[in-house]
Amino acid sequence: MRSWSIHVGRLFGVEVRLHLTFLILPLFVFWTEYNSHGSANGPRDLALVGIVLACVAAHEIGHMLVARRYGLIPKAVILLPLSGVTVFDETHAEKPASGAAAWQREVRIALTGPLVNIVLAIIAAGIIFAVAPEANLWKWPFLQPSNLPRSLVWANLYLAGLNLLPAYPLDGGRVLRAFFARTIDPSAATRRAVSISHALAMMLMVAGLFSDTWLTMVGVIIFSAAQLEERAVIFQSVLDNVRLEEVMLTDFATLSPADTLEDALEKAVHSLQDDFPVVRGSDMVGVISRQRILEALRVEGNGYVQAVMNKLFEVSARQESLASAFRKLTARNLSIIPVVEDQRLVGIITLQNLMHSMALLAESRKLRRDNAES
Ligand SMILES: [Zn+2]
Repeated sequence: MRSWSIHVGRLFGVEVRLHLTFLILPLFVFWTEYNSHGSANGPRDLALVGIVLACVAAHEIGHMLVARRYGLIPKAVILLPLSGVTVFDETHAEKPASGAAAWQREVRIALTGPLVNIVLAIIAAGIIFAVAPEANLWKWPFLQPSNLPRSLVWANLYLAGLNLLPAYPLDGGRVLRAFFARTIDPSAATRRAVSISHALAMMLMVAGLFSDTWLTMVGVIIFSAAQLEERAVIFQSVLDNVRLEEVMLTDFATLSPADTLEDALEKAVHSLQDDFPVVRGSDMVGVISRQRILEALRVEGNGYVQAVMNKLFEVSARQESLASAFRKLTARNLSIIPVVEDQRLVGIITLQNLMHSMALLAESRKLRRDNAES
C-alpha cells in the first residue's frame, strides 16, 4: 500500500501521502469532458480534481482528530480518490479496549468522516443559496468542471454516501464490522464484513457495465481495498496467536565475550546468521551483529567481543506472541531477541527470521482456511 503512494506533505504533524490511483482521476475527468463536449478545459478540470482531493482530506482529518482523542496516534494518511486510509503508529498503540468501549470507539471514528462531508455540503449549499443562486444545485450532472460551486456540494455528498456503504473497509463497513465484533471474535467479524463487501463490490461492477462506468470503478476500488484489509487481518492474527517457540531458531551459533573479533568473524562466515547472542557459560551477556563486528575490526582493529557487544538487549519467553517480539524489536531498533527459559538460552528470534516465518505462516493459514471453506 505504502509503495503505491507518494509523500505530499505534513498536516497536524501527520504525514500525508497521495495514492497513485488519485492520478487516474484527472485523466478520467479530461476523458469524460472530452467525450461529452469534444474539448476539455485543463484548469477547470484540475480544479474539480482539487475539490475532490480537499473533500477527501477534510474527511480524513475528521477521522484523525477523533482517533487522536481516543489516544490513537496517526502516523500517515493515504488519500485515495474515494476515501483515505489512516495508518496508526502500532508501537504506541495501547491494547484495543474490549467490549462496549471498543465498539463505540470504532463507530465514532468511522462516522466522523462522512459527517464532516455532510456538514461541509450543508455549509457550501447555504452559502451558494445566499450569494450565487444561479449555480442551480439540482441540475444534472452534479459533478462538472463548468460548475465548481455545485461540484463542491455534490463531491461532499457523494463522498459521504459512498463511504457509508456497508462495504468494508469503507466507513459503513467498519460500523458493520464493529457490530459483528460485539458477538464474534474480531478476525471472524472482519471476514464476515469482507465477504459482504466483496458481494457488494461485485454488484456495483456488474451494475456499472449496464449504466455508469463510475460504478464499476467504485466496485473495483472497494474490492481491492477489502482484499488488502483482509490480508492485514490475517497478518495480525498470526502476530497475536503464534508463540515464539513455534518460530524461533533453535539451531544457532553463539559467541563468547572472550572471543576476539577475528575469531568472531571466522565463526560468522560459517553461519547464515546476521546476529549472534553472546554467552558466558550459560548466561546471556549481550548480542552482536556481523555488521558491528566488521565495523569494529575496520575502525579499531582486532579486540574482544566483550568490548563491542550490545549489553542492552531484551529477552523473551517461549510463550510470548510474535506481536510482543515484534514490538520489542521495532521499539528499540533491535535485530535479535534471545528466547530464554529459566535463564537458559533456548532459541533466538531475528528480524530476518521473523519476516520469513510470518509470510509463511500467513500463507499456510490462508490455505488452511480456504480448504476448510471449500
Ligand atoms: Zn472514512
